[in-house]
Amino acid sequence: MAAYEYETHNYDVVVVGAGGAGLRATLGMAEQGLRTACVTKVFPTRSHTVAAQGGIAASLGNMGPDNWQWHMYDTVKGSDWLGDIDTIEYVTREAPRAVYELEHYGVPFSRTEEGKIYQRPFGGHTTEFGEGPPVQRTCAAADRTGHAMLHTLYGQSLKQNAEFYIEHFALDLIMSEDGACTGIMAWKLDDGTLHRFNAKLVVLATGGAGRTYFSATSAHTCTGDGGGMVTRAGLPLQDQEFVQFHPTGIYGAGVLITEGVRGEGGYLTNSEGERFMERYAPTYKDLASRDVVSRCMTLEIREGRGVGPEKDHIYLNLNHLPREVIEERLPGIAESARIFAGVDVTKDPIPVLPTVHYNMGGIPTNYWGEVLNPTADDHDAVVPGLMAVGEAACASLHGANRLGSNSLIDLVVLGRAAAIRAGQIVDRQGAVPAGPGAEVEKILDRFDSIRHADGANPTAEVRLKMQKAMQKDAAVFRTAETLQEGCAAISAIWKEMQDIRVTDRSLIWNSDLMETLELHNLMANAITTVYSAEARTESRGSHAREDYPERDDENWRKHTIARLDGNGAVSLSYRDVHTEPLTPAEQGGIDPEKIAPRKRVY
Ligand SMILES: Cc1cc2nc3c(=O)[nH]c(=O)nc-3n(C[C@H](O)[C@H](O)[C@H](O)COP(=O)(O)OP(=O)(O)OC[C@H]3O[C@@H](n4cnc5c(N)ncnc54)[C@H](O)[C@@H]3O)c2cc1C
Repeated sequence: MAAYEYETHNYDVVVVGAGGAGLRATLGMAEQGLRTACVTKVFPTRSHTVAAQGGIAASLGNMGPDNWQWHMYDTVKGSDWLGDIDTIEYVTREAPRAVYELEHYGVPFSRTEEGKIYQRPFGGHTTEFGEGPPVQRTCAAADRTGHAMLHTLYGQSLKQNAEFYIEHFALDLIMSEDGACTGIMAWKLDDGTLHRFNAKLVVLATGGAGRTYFSATSAHTCTGDGGGMVTRAGLPLQDQEFVQFHPTGIYGAGVLITEGVRGEGGYLTNSEGERFMERYAPTYKDLASRDVVSRCMTLEIREGRGVGPEKDHIYLNLNHLPREVIEERLPGIAESARIFAGVDVTKDPIPVLPTVHYNMGGIPTNYWGEVLNPTADDHDAVVPGLMAVGEAACASLHGANRLGSNSLIDLVVLGRAAAIRAGQIVDRQGAVPAGPGAEVEKILDRFDSIRHADGANPTAEVRLKMQKAMQKDAAVFRTAETLQEGCAAISAIWKEMQDIRVTDRSLIWNSDLMETLELHNLMANAITTVYSAEARTESRGSHAREDYPERDDENWRKHTIARLDGNGAVSLSYRDVHTEPLTPAEQGGIDPEKIAPRKRVY
């Protein structure tokens, strides 16, 4: 048994993660007087949310007619009818309120001439239930919306006396014998001390797992730690096969060029200089949804119409846009293109390629953020003491494909919903649960064995193998053959991970140890992704099977539930999609006919 001392902290609520979701939840909890700690491995304003460029979707109608039912319809269609309808209604209906709240907290949104919040068009966002022209729905602070949001939310959380534990790496959940979450263990990176957080409620807001792939727009810290912790606690992940490729990552670097560029009038061309999206999506063209545009680009390249010496990428043109539009609305993009592609966007096109961008899947929750552990009798059974919000979670707002600018709104609406729910369920007077000591020992034993791992395979090598396998076998287009290869490859890499080598044994700023802990979390995400994808024999949203090109609602309009055991075995079951809106049509809700499944054409 490993002998480690630790300091114990008691709170009503512990939020793990300080991105947009974690900060919005922290702020909401603290505002209600709950004693709240936010534990984060990076400084709050360095969370990946800081990189969000394009904006946040809400039907404010500042630039023309819009309403939440249109936003709801677009999100259902964008999700390829896999999203949970109750969650979609809740988020799209609450979105305007959440954006005005951000405005009042101090987010410096760009403005129209009359001083209203500026909104730009984004892919898949339309009017008249997909029959009208594109809508301007995405609220933006130039092309630095996430940056503005994080700084505002961090300041507001400090004002409400939330307590921050910065550069503390959460290791694992402490679970009681009866399956409730009672806290977490964390390792403080700068002095090597260990910390036990007991809490009445733990909220995981640990972000996405983009780094399971070789080329991703997300930060190197996006390692799916929440997913790793949940699987080690015996809880499942949902819809892991749905991984979004963003059409416009900079070729080579993988750095994102926001869809806002196409919203402002930018367009894609192939080696013949053709605006090829007009051929595939005659109505919405370059503003079709992301999975569609990524597939079209991949087809153009495959058919020999890629650009560059290797004909392996596509051009994004914005040199026809007025200089003021670029300077005012897209200054960060001009800078990224100069630094990462050596391109002056006022003169030349940017070389781009579909790049991994977002995880639609994650820890299953309802729209209050409560984590679900489905059983045969109850698909919506709640895990006491545990919530998840943001990209780590799957409340299934996005289903099989996320619309651009719908993640930032997800963070704030559902981060706020989690706080509202916590206000109802956390017993303020009750004692903070202590959780079983044996569980803590188990967590510390695991930490110790990884710290002293003395095997044959360096962490960086195993990680690179995983990233290359995912990139090759779980790509934009998939077949039984590639996915079976992917399952075999990732299972073999799982075995190699058991024989890993950590060279630094210290506890202070040991990045080797931290990256190894992160690799374990990445692998939990990667292995559930390939096995879930192999099993799903249809094409839906971002999951495009060449051997099963059609969507199959009869057999597959259901969520994948993947469980992982300690030996790397994945078992799959399925959970019903919520198909009922919250508000009946006669009380002002959406007409159910409008959101009935149909073919998805843009
Ligand atoms: C380049 C880029 C641009 C984007 N642009 C947009 C956009 O314009 N509009 C939009 O809607 N969406 C956009 N997205 C998507 C959106 O930004 C993300 O989905 C969202 O920001 C995720 O927020 P989050 O709060 O869930 O997680 P993150 O912001 O990733 O934060 C995760 C937090 O968890 C903490 N954490 C993780 N693991 C641990 C651990 N083990 N212990 C302690 N703490 C931990 C981290 O320290 C961090 O604070 C973009 C994404 C990228 C990558």
